[in-house]
Amino acid sequence: MDDLRDLYQEVIIDHGRRPRNFGAPATAGRLARGHNPLCGDELTVFLNLDGDTISEVRFEGTGCAISVASASLMSENLKGKTLAEFEKIYGNFHHMVTEDEGAEARAADLGKLGVLAGVREFPARVKCATLAWHTLHAAVHGEDLATTE
Ligand code: ZN
Repeated sequence: MDDLRDLYQEVIIDHGRRPRNFGAPATAGRLARGHNPLCGDELTVFLNLDGDTISEVRFEGTGCAISVASASLMSENLKGKTLAEFEKIYGNFHHMVTEDEGAEARAADLGKLGVLAGVREFPARVKCATLAWHTLHAAVHGEDLATTE
């Protein structure tokens, strides 16, 4: 179990240091800004759609390793997924990091995103892990979090 934790930590540190899909795209169909005042994380998430399919998720901003790693893993995971699949994954991810019951099963379903399951033991970090997700959710639904706060 400790080896698994080390592996999870490695993935989080790797994505925190070398985030994938970082930087604004040439054009973005939608974007939203998110802010986690508890930690100081500020992310802008960009979304491009091809019909109902997510063709690209990118992000920029500054944040702690957890918030950046979560955004990076999210951007990798969602490429090619439909908006309906995103809603399901969003719900599963939120469940995994906020509730103990059923969290292990959600983590298994979420594949690589499961490395973030451990944050539920650190309530102060949950908002770091969910920031990119809330922000993308707002972008999908046409809200800009920075203007609706
Ligand atoms: Zn943070």
